[in-house]
Amino acid sequence: ACSGCITSAETVMLEKQSLDEFLSNINKGKTVIVSLSPQSRASIAVHYGLSPLQVFRKLTTLFKSLGVKAVFDTSCSRDLSLIESCNEFISRYKQSHLDDKESKSFLPMISSACPGWICYAEKTLGSYVLPYISSVKSPQQSIGAIIKHHLCHKLGLRPGEIYHVTVMPCYDKKLEASRDDFVFHDESDELTTEVDSVLTTGEVLDLIQSKAVDFINLDESPLDKLLSNVSEEGHLFGVRGSSGGYADTIYRYTAKLLFNQDIKGPLHFKTIRNSDFQEVTLEVEGKTVLKFALCYGFRNLQNVVRKLKIGKCDYDYLEIMACPSGCLNGGGQLKPKPGQSGKDLIQALETTYMETVLVADPFENPMVKSLYDSWLEHPGSEKAKKHIHTEYHPIVKSITSQLNNW
Ligand code: SF4
Repeated sequence: ACSGCITSAETVMLEKQSLDEFLSNINKGKTVIVSLSPQSRASIAVHYGLSPLQVFRKLTTLFKSLGVKAVFDTSCSRDLSLIESCNEFISRYKQSHLDDKESKSFLPMISSACPGWICYAEKTLGSYVLPYISSVKSPQQSIGAIIKHHLCHKLGLRPGEIYHVTVMPCYDKKLEASRDDFVFHDESDELTTEVDSVLTTGEVLDLIQSKAVDFINLDESPLDKLLSNVSEEGHLFGVRGSSGGYADTIYRYTAKLLFNQDIKGPLHFKTIRNSDFQEVTLEVEGKTVLKFALCYGFRNLQNVVRKLKIGKCDYDYLEIMACPSGCLNGGGQLKPKPGQSGKDLIQALETTYMETVLVADPFENPMVKSLYDSWLEHPGSEKAKKHIHTEYHPIVKSITSQLNNW
């Protein structure tokens, strides 16, 4: 989504995070762990006519046959990011609406899970928009933090002894993984990153094809339970709805906590300009107390940011994603088959994504509860801020690029 602003240094880095690089790092003495995004599983499921759970089991077989030690799913870290986001929103909302009118500028809080949006905000919008962006790391970086700052110690390994790969629906996730904010020295002074390499869904299909794997008939392995929330029957818990999960979860949580409104059933989003720009409001005693919007695709996000700049954006929360239709439609996802339209594919993806994965409340996720109990203490704690939150930096253009712009 942000390919228009990728620099040459970033291109070199993108090439480094390739399928070849991933394969060359297996069986090199490091413990290789793969974390799969649910959007990638849905894309491969639609492509092969399988369920996302079957895809998870078959990819577990495939990756383990290559020498990978564990295959997880990012739903658990997504729940952790959601809980931290709820906590951050409540404190911004209270500060803005209830405490001190001076600090009004903390809202709207803007979601931070889309690196296409973050890249655009840092390079093009800079300091006037960055303070609005939630400091919570994306699910990709949260699972990276869990593995490299917590799980490795439980396994008796140094962070640098683990090679952690994610499978994601977009190329911008590779840029995100390589941010300086997510690189650190471990106790042996080895430089390591939360996520060492990112494969797109398309690159996983390349892997299946290059190894001539009969994927449909491939054995299905049991799922690794250490970080994936799997039931006794092997079902996976913990994925909510579509990309609307952030706005949806924070809205319900705030309505209950601050206004004692228990909202059951789906939220009624109202289409504003197009299906990629929708809003939902909560009224209490005739007054609008919450106003949230989903804003997908560059045209919509540019419009909303323009409003923010002139002080005419009255939302409390904005879920911004750079791709129209969100991550299911990411640039790294599998392309439509011959005769299939892009619209048909998105519809099939949405159905597969929504219907085949069990919905669960992130606050009830036992994996996340145990992460707080054994490591992070409570939402918004100093440890959570250190490991699950990050910062954004305005990127000053070089003189040459400024001259080019003239
Ligand atoms: Fe990547 Fe698009 Fe999802 Fe953003 S919306 S994270 S650019 S796939």
